[in-house]
Amino acid sequence: MRDVCIVGGGVAGLTASIFTARGGLDTLVVDGGESILARNASLENFPGFPDGVDARRHLRLTREQARTAGAEFELGRVIRAEPVTEGALEEGFVLETEGGEPLEARRVIAASWPTSDYLEPLDVGRMQRGSKHFVSVDEGGRTAVDGVYAAGRIADEPHQAVVAAGHGAKAALALLYDADVPFYQDWVVPEGYFTGRDREVPPGCEEIDDEERRRRDERARETMREAFGDPLDEEPTMHPSVDRD
Ligand SMILES: Cc1cc2nc3c(=O)[nH]c(=O)nc-3n(C[C@H](O)[C@H](O)[C@H](O)COP(=O)(O)OP(=O)(O)OC[C@H]3O[C@@H](n4cnc5c(N)ncnc54)[C@H](O)[C@@H]3O)c2cc1C
Repeated sequence: MRDVCIVGGGVAGLTASIFTARGGLDTLVVDGGESILARNASLENFPGFPDGVDARRHLRLTREQARTAGAEFELGRVIRAEPVTEGALEEGFVLETEGGEPLEARRVIAASWPTSDYLEPLDVGRMQRGSKHFVSVDEGGRTAVDGVYAAGRIADEPHQAVVAAGHGAKAALALLYDADVPFYQDWVVPEGYFTGRDREVPPGCEEIDDEERRRRDERARETMREAFGDPLDEEPTMHPSVDRD
């Protein structure tokens, strides 16, 4: 049984997986399609990219970051989620996927815009607005069912990538807290930042010396040089109702 299964490998789900995996939880991301961000033509309001970034490249890099953090991936559309044992939520959940093996996890983050019908057996509290369904959550992304969280657009967050990313991180942090993981801030700090004040390095934080800082910077620049070296030949996904013939 996994510690956490994240349904949806878009902006919110990938970001959540970076946090849960870095927090030491055995994290599986199940994705059954493509992020709606793949429809974007040029992502220009995500911080850190002064002239914007190709949205497909951004998704690729975020997936790579999740893998580096230790998250694993599986392709598949989740069609049903229920407790492993009725009335014993602490025993975890089983997720049925279309044509795949059932997946078991202690906790679930639903980041599966626009789908949430697979949550019906759990009675998490879905609300309908027009043709869309949203999942009600508290400030940490917790649903009405212990161990089940929702993040991103599906949790009725504003329809912006950076908001979905932030909400994914928030839900993951709430999950880490609920799972009693001693996870402080997930910070990497210069050597001496804590120990230089006779403090222990808090859980989830890491002190690195100057040599290590330069090594990581070199690796990061190499990764980005490679990632941005050539234009992508992938095109934005058009809205399904647009007739392009
Ligand atoms: C045309 C267009 C342009 C946009 N441009 C911008 C922009 O310029 N700037 C900006 O900030 N935002 C933009 N957005 C909005 C942004 O893309 C979304 O707000 C953001 O992607 C929401 O993140 P999310 O993780 O909630 O959903 P998504 O990123 O869509 O991820 C949801 C994931 O869940 C998966 N999934 C769904 N159901 C299931 C299931 N049952 N089982 C398994 N997986 C499932 C999907 O395949 C998908 O990968 C744009 C959106 C569109 C449509």
